[in-house]
Amino acid sequence: MALETALSPESLLDHTQRIELEHGRVRKAERWGPRTLDIDLMLFGDAVINTERLIVPHYDMLNRAFMLLPLCEIAPDACLPDGRLLKTILDTLDSSTIRRWHTRSA
Ligand code: ATP
Ligand code: CA
Ligand code: CA
Repeated sequence: MALETALSPESLLDHTQRIELEHGRVRKAERWGPRTLDIDLMLFGDAVINTERLIVPHYDMLNRAFMLLPLCEIAPDACLPDGRLLKTILDTLDSSTIRRWHTRSA
């Protein structure tokens, strides 16, 4: 999803992590294991952030069609802070195995 906020990036991360916990997420030592909800900040405007808690743009989104595809659906003109168009990067990735999990009927 895309949103407008007056929060700082780290405050927004506090909120998304609270929402993950409210959805029953348990933080385990194992990374990339099964979890009930994972909310990552992909972009924060044109900001480039490299702190202990936060790397923005998301460090691996350029390799993950499952992240870029829905982002380009809601923001076809989205660019990286360096100006590269995400749609152009998505076109270089294999999206063929990505399926919509749930489609709401009209
Ligand atoms: P990946 O980051 O490879 O998608 P993951 O989402 O499973 O893996 P988590 O265990 O959810 O990783 O998060 C680990 C830490 O990553 C978080 O505690 C958070 O501080 C940090 N982090 C760094 N950059 C971001 C970001 N852009 N969005 C969300 N969390 C981030
Ligand atoms: Ca993730
Ligand atoms: Ca995460």
